[in-house]
Amino acid sequence: MFNKKTAENPKYVFVVGGVISGVGKGITASSIAKIMQDRGLRATAIKIDPYINVDAGTMNPTEHGEVFVLDDGDETDQDMGNYERFLNIDLTRVNYMTTGRVYQTVINKERNLDYAGKCVQVVPHIPLEVIDRIETAQKKAGADIVVIEVGGTIGEYENILFLEAARMMKLKNPKDVAVVMVSYLPVPSKVGEMKTKPTQHAVRTLNGSGIQPDILVARSNDPLDEKRKEKLSLFCNVPEGRVISAPDVDSIYDIPANFEKEGLSDILCDILFLSCKKNRVESAELWDMFTHRIATAKGELKIAVVGKYFDTGNYVLSDAYISVIEAIRHASYAINQKPVLTWINSVDFEQHPERIKDLAQYDGIIVPGGFGARGIEGIISAIQFARENKIPYFGLCYGMQLAVIEYARHKLGWKDANTREINPDSSRLVIDIMESQKGKLDAHDYGGTMRLGAYDAYLGTGTMARTAYAKDTISERHRHRYEVNPAYIKDIEGAGLVFSGRSPDGELMEIAELPKDVHPFFLGTQFHPEFKSRPLAPHPLFKAFAEAAATRAKRA
Ligand code: GLN
Repeated sequence: MFNKKTAENPKYVFVVGGVISGVGKGITASSIAKIMQDRGLRATAIKIDPYINVDAGTMNPTEHGEVFVLDDGDETDQDMGNYERFLNIDLTRVNYMTTGRVYQTVINKERNLDYAGKCVQVVPHIPLEVIDRIETAQKKAGADIVVIEVGGTIGEYENILFLEAARMMKLKNPKDVAVVMVSYLPVPSKVGEMKTKPTQHAVRTLNGSGIQPDILVARSNDPLDEKRKEKLSLFCNVPEGRVISAPDVDSIYDIPANFEKEGLSDILCDILFLSCKKNRVESAELWDMFTHRIATAKGELKIAVVGKYFDTGNYVLSDAYISVIEAIRHASYAINQKPVLTWINSVDFEQHPERIKDLAQYDGIIVPGGFGARGIEGIISAIQFARENKIPYFGLCYGMQLAVIEYARHKLGWKDANTREINPDSSRLVIDIMESQKGKLDAHDYGGTMRLGAYDAYLGTGTMARTAYAKDTISERHRHRYEVNPAYIKDIEGAGLVFSGRSPDGELMEIAELPKDVHPFFLGTQFHPEFKSRPLAPHPLFKAFAEAAATRAKRA
């Protein structure tokens, strides 16, 4: 149902990117929404991905980045996670669109005769569907302001129809639509000077789509000097006061404050004829406290993230696990500790078993979500080492399933315990497929077939999970096909592993943990807690893990 309070005159800010990809459009869009929210406006954000995929679920995270799951189960782009974290709100599938999704709707409408016999054309029908979706998201949130991030880079073929939607909206309501171009200013090493030409060309290309940017966000290593501002203003046709300097930062969470130093929310209020308050809301003060804690954190937590990283290199890892990284940050800074992450390729432990001892130097070990057989035996050895050496261990989804397998193998002596995903012929499939998923897999019908989105779970009394959450019912987001096999629960619990979180019907095991007197922190979740962690609301389990790691860090 739509929110009852609908803004009378909603405003729209399109964020587009120039020159190169990866300039930080997502963080810019999140920060713009955040500074407007801090002025008391109800803000929401939309991500437009130009690819044909209907959702991000079928894309490889090492190529595309993390698949971020929403409460309603939509599998989306990692930027949706940034919006949720910056705005501290829950988004739904109306906040996300892809070319595939837009075309699918238009084609379905055509088949249903919804266009009443008209010729259905790429223009205007595709941009009109895009506009319809933007307005739906606005209504659902009752938003005063909607920030829309157009994926891709100016000049690409793929995003032209989305720019066309922006142009059409601005033509109709010029006072309600602003366009922000996030651009990049390189400093060639031999020249040593910040270059504006690529940005000038990007603006001209955008002009070719009938759009003049209202604001330029100039990304670069260093702040813009006056000369560069003048030049960009003159040649890009943007008033000097609307060229925003956006140098690299240590912490992305400082960017809203940096934008405000440049007066960005005032500029947007001018462009959009908004007369919103100047005084900031409470969440803005809490945000300042959070960024201050990042800048002043005293201790250091050494966290190993163990997974099957191959063909990736370190560059993409941070994209593929962005929510895990952010959740660790939120929790660590909440207790004034700076996390230092080390990515450990589990295949290494398979080839060099003696290296497992190196894990002893870490204050905590995390095994994040994953799929497939590669590197799995190495991960299981790492979990065994963490359990036997009382190193805080936190398993996320696959990390929980593999902890159950490890326990079954080494505490129950079920040597070939496994998950159906890896060895369907195992005599003890302690992790098995859900009945409901079997048919889909047989039919190779993979898109959207997992257990996706938010589900409730009940927490057992006296457990670590219950203490951490300080409540008995939780709701967490899922993305997996396999589950703990109910046939083995009694035996596994008999051997000491406690299933402290269960689905309301008691059928599905949501959290596995060892009692605190056995291990300082050994816990795995079938869900992905990282999707719900926010700077202003660190996740309780990540916090409990960080506390256990901090205790270990203090060891002599
Ligand atoms: N591969 C496992 C499953 O499908 C775990 C998935 C995950 O970690 N997200 O159940």
